[in-house]
Amino acid sequence: MPRAGRQTVLSIRNVRKSFGGVHAVNDLSLEIKEGEFVALLGPNGAGKTTLLEMIEGLQTPDSGSIEICGLNYAQHERQIRQIMGLAFQETRFPEKIRVAEALRLFAAFYGASPARTVEILDLVSLAEKKNAYVNTLSGGQRQRLALGIAIIQKPKVLLLDEPTTGLDPHARRELWQILSDLKRAGMTLLLTTHYMEEAEELCERIVIQFRGRILADGALEDLLE
Ligand code: ATP
Repeated sequence: MPRAGRQTVLSIRNVRKSFGGVHAVNDLSLEIKEGEFVALLGPNGAGKTTLLEMIEGLQTPDSGSIEICGLNYAQHERQIRQIMGLAFQETRFPEKIRVAEALRLFAAFYGASPARTVEILDLVSLAEKKNAYVNTLSGGQRQRLALGIAIIQKPKVLLLDEPTTGLDPHARRELWQILSDLKRAGMTLLLTTHYMEEAEELCERIVIQFRGRILADGALEDLLE
């Protein structure tokens, strides 16, 4: 459950989003505190991506409110972009761009220093690949690059949509290791996943979404009971 005494990073109140007659997100409320690692699980069609996209500002709720560190998209989109890091299920990069170039591009976009690029290459273990074309990377390396881009502006909160889907167990573990390091450094994380093992390994809090609502929310041991 949310820890007392910490800043609320994400506050979702009574959010609804429908498509035609489908209530993808149905009067859902959720609060995430600084430093929490939260996994969002649920069957296909439960509304996880719709919820995540509203938190990311890619979709607008029909009703209800979403605040990130007390900020909302209507008034503070620029500030939110600085404190929120995003990585999608699949990241498409331009064909002819090298790893370090891609990082420099995003660093410039966010106003981060070029030195941050070097730091990120180390953080996501891609220093040896800095001159490789992005389209020659393995699935795991691409996901590590996407994660590196997501954290380039030193965000407070990270949103990851199925970050390790399709990766082999070794590549999955490598990504988990980086996320664990970020956790120790104080990051807040919300991720969707279909792997219970991933939720268990990384997250002290598991939220189960079903038909647009939250069915369960707590530590794994509590949920198993
Ligand atoms: P998955 O695990 O398969 O990614 P999910 O939990 O992320 O599923 P959503 O993709 O959020 O679920 O979809 C929730 C419901 O809303 C589904 O019934 C889906 O068909 C519907 N839906 C989502 N986006 C749209 C859209 N743009 N237009 C119409 N219906 C949509």
